[in-house]
Amino acid sequence: MVATPDRDSAEAELTPRRQRRRPKRRELLCPAHPEQRIEGNGKKYFLHLLSAEELQQRGMASKTARLVIQAHPVLVLSNEWLEELFCPQCGGSRWCHITKHDPVEHSVRWAPRHLWEQVAHVDPIEANPTVSQYTRREARRHNQKRLDNKRFYD
Ligand SMILES: [Zn+2]
Repeated sequence: MVATPDRDSAEAELTPRRQRRRPKRRELLCPAHPEQRIEGNGKKYFLHLLSAEELQQRGMASKTARLVIQAHPVLVLSNEWLEELFCPQCGGSRWCHITKHDPVEHSVRWAPRHLWEQVAHVDPIEANPTVSQYTRREARRHNQKRLDNKRFYD
């Protein structure tokens, strides 16, 4: 999905006779304050899906979902991510789970913790066991590979 630039005012100024289009800024609203726009630094943590059930929860037929997961064991969604957003009324930043419907319209909810397990094995919220578990798993995997190679070259 192609990102829409935040501003198109430069183009609007070059064509004064044409009716100005409203700038297509993405609209993110605070889950606690429905009238309040909230902003982040734009750093997005995209979600990986690993199961057909997760696709079905997003409205895909179960047979299609199973086929998609078979074809893409790790499917990265382009229209869902986690992002830290600031709300002046809340007086702070919170991690939000964002679903993009079109360049402007997004739904925003507080990110449930479990979603971090679907973001590149990294949890930036607290010093975490996930990374070390992942590292150990990786280390085991490499050990396994080394053993295999040794056997191969012997
Ligand atoms: Zn708020």
